[in-house]
Amino acid sequence: MAAAETASRVCETDGCSNPARLQCPKCLQLGIPGSFFCSQDCFKGSWGSHKKLHKVAAIKTAESAAAQSPQKYNPWPGYRFTGKVRPYPLSAKREVPDHIPRPDYADHTEGVPSSELALKGSTQIRVLSDEEIEGMRVACRLGREVLDAAAAAIAVGMTTDEIDRVVHEASVDRECYPSPLNYYTFPKSCCTSVNEVICHGIPDLRPLQDGDIVNVDVTVYHRGFHGDLNETFFVGKVDEASRKLVRVTHECLTKAIEAVKPGVRYREVGNIIQKHAQANGFSVYLPYCGHGINQLFHTAPSVPHYAKNKAIGVMKPGHTFTIEPMISEGTWRDDTWPDNWTAVTVDGKRSAQFEQTLLVTEVGCEVLTRRRDNDGKPHFLDS
Ligand SMILES: [Zn+2]
Ligand SMILES: [Zn+2]
Repeated sequence: MAAAETASRVCETDGCSNPARLQCPKCLQLGIPGSFFCSQDCFKGSWGSHKKLHKVAAIKTAESAAAQSPQKYNPWPGYRFTGKVRPYPLSAKREVPDHIPRPDYADHTEGVPSSELALKGSTQIRVLSDEEIEGMRVACRLGREVLDAAAAAIAVGMTTDEIDRVVHEASVDRECYPSPLNYYTFPKSCCTSVNEVICHGIPDLRPLQDGDIVNVDVTVYHRGFHGDLNETFFVGKVDEASRKLVRVTHECLTKAIEAVKPGVRYREVGNIIQKHAQANGFSVYLPYCGHGINQLFHTAPSVPHYAKNKAIGVMKPGHTFTIEPMISEGTWRDDTWPDNWTAVTVDGKRSAQFEQTLLVTEVGCEVLTRRRDNDGKPHFLDS
C-alpha cells in the first residue's frame, strides 16, 4: 500500500509532472509531509524555495516542544541556574531589508563593530554638530516609538520572541536597523530581561508569566545614528516588592538626569544613583555602564552607575550619552548564562533597569528618547 501511494505522487518542482519517489531527507527528519521529487536534479533545482519550508517547520517544532515540556529544553545540562527563569528555544533570525542602511557590524561574521574598535581606549568625547544633533533627535524619537510599540503589546502569555518580532517590525517600518542584531553576533533585535536577568537577555519562546517584570532594551540605527532606551514593564499583577524595585530604579534614572548640565563631571552620575538605591535597600549593578552614543553604538564617555567611580570627562553642550542604571533587590553580584550574554543575579533576586539617551544643552539636558505621551511617564505608571 505505502509503495503504491508513493508511486502515485508527482514531483513538487514547478512545471514537472513526473512520478516522484524521492522524498526530501530534511523534511522526513522534521516530520513535514509530502515533499516528493522525481530526480536529484529536480530536488536541487527546487532547493532555493523548498528549504524555506524547513525553517518554518523548525520554529513550529521548537515552539511545540517548549510548550509541551519546557523543563526538557536545557541546552546546558551542567549549568546551575541562580533563579527560576530558564532559556527557551530561539526563533529563526529576522532579516532587515537591503534598502535600510546598516551599521558596519551587521554583516561581519563575528559582529565586530570596527568603527567602535578604532576608537577603543580613547576617552575623547565628541561634541556633535547641529546637523549631527538633528540626526540623533530623529533616531531617538524613532527608537522611542519602537519601545512604545513593544509596551503596547506586552501581556501575560506573550513570548519574549513576540516582543522581538514587534520591535523588529516597528524598526523596519521606520527605516531603522535594530542595532542589537548581530552586534558581536547578538542573535535578536532587542534585549528582553525577565526578573533575575539583569540585562542582555535574549528574546526566546518563553511565555511571560503573570507577576513577571520584563525589561525591553531597544536601540535603532537610522540614517547613521543610534538611539538607545529601555524600560521595565509589569506583566499582569506584580507583587509590591517588585513594584517598589521598579519605581526606585526609575527614580534613580530621573534623579541622575536632573543633574545633567554643562560642567558636571560624568563621575557624579554614579554618586546620585547609588545614594538613592542604597537608601531604599537596593544595590547597583557595576559591570555595565552608560555610554556615549552617536554614529557609534557604544563610545566615550563611560558612565558608571556606582558611587566613587573614576569616570573621565566633564559634560559639554553637544555630548550625547546614555544613563541606564540596573538596580537589584539583593546582591549586585552576577553570573552569566553559557550563552555568554544573559547576565543574572547570583542570588536569583530581581533586577530592574531604565535607560534614556540624553543631549547636553547650554542650560541642562534634552532627553532625546523621552516619551511623547502621558506626560513622559514610564509605561509601568500607566492606568
Ligand atoms: Zn539600551
Ligand atoms: Zn545603552
